[in-house]
Amino acid sequence: MIIVLKSGVGDSEIDEVCRRITEMGYSPHVIRGEFKTVVAAVGEERGRPDLRLLEALETVESVMPVQQPFKLASKEVRAEPTEVRINGVVVGGAVVVVMAGPCSVESESQMCEVAEAVKVSGARILRGGAYKPRTSPYAFQGLKEQGLQHLAEARKRTGLPVVTEVLETESVELVAEYADMLQIGARNIQNFTLLRRVGETGKPVLLKRGMATTIQEFLLSAEYILSAGNPNVILCERGIRTFETTTRFTLDLNAVPVLKKLSHLPVVVDPSHGTGHWDLVAPMAKGAVACGADGLIIEVHPRPELALSDGPQSLKPSKFAQLMRELAPVAEAVGRSL
Ligand code: PEP
Ligand code: MN
Repeated sequence: MIIVLKSGVGDSEIDEVCRRITEMGYSPHVIRGEFKTVVAAVGEERGRPDLRLLEALETVESVMPVQQPFKLASKEVRAEPTEVRINGVVVGGAVVVVMAGPCSVESESQMCEVAEAVKVSGARILRGGAYKPRTSPYAFQGLKEQGLQHLAEARKRTGLPVVTEVLETESVELVAEYADMLQIGARNIQNFTLLRRVGETGKPVLLKRGMATTIQEFLLSAEYILSAGNPNVILCERGIRTFETTTRFTLDLNAVPVLKKLSHLPVVVDPSHGTGHWDLVAPMAKGAVACGADGLIIEVHPRPELALSDGPQSLKPSKFAQLMRELAPVAEAVGRSL
């Protein structure tokens, strides 16, 4: 249910409504809009008092059900787009934010070299995996904490905030100490315990769609993080599995306008995993910006032929620089900038 408050209600009155919602057994989430403040009351309604009783309060304008199964992620609860701040970088505003870096952190020199290069080309956030979810247990699994230290060093040298994947609940605390944004990978999209834990950190979360995740399931996964009290969620379309095998996955660009229609959360696109081939990254990156993505996450490696993971889909720094130049007019054509 959403409890729409009358215009001009103050903080103490909002607190009072929240107190009553808690007393009735629900969790209140305050959403302050430009014109109105609403409080979303979430929780199982069976066996609990009817929230419509709150209409009796003088500060309450109306109490309305949220039609979608996802509540806090829904546009019904918040009409304005959410802006997520990652150490000063805003995702969900006028600027299309490009995140770039290698699939895996391999060494300090590799990370620093790539970080300097992508920064010069205009990337605003640095990516790199220290904990790698690999299909084969024999493949490179990541440098773990040492990888996090290399990311921290690259951030120190360039000032770029860092996004990195957290694979399991046991390492959330450690990864959160180093990362500016936590990435939940495609394979963990329905690891509900992990989603709750990253929700509790309050850190920005880059939530990647699973390869067989419907839009509704995707938004319900976001809801786990939001309902744990963390509003800083960015959705990432990274390709889904279809009958097509020419590309690694099928990049579902429909997801961008569909998610924008249903949710206020920012949406970014990963054309690297979405295609699996470096030469397909630029055209799909441009397509993503053209259809309204708030950002991109792109794999860049100084020597893709030597990469320990995802070399075939990684751009060399020179190709990344070229892509950034070509993206600028696309962003401009849809009223954004890079
Ligand atoms: C990655 O970003 O390197 C990664 C493993 O992505 P995904 O979870 O989308 O496969
Ligand atoms: Mn990768």
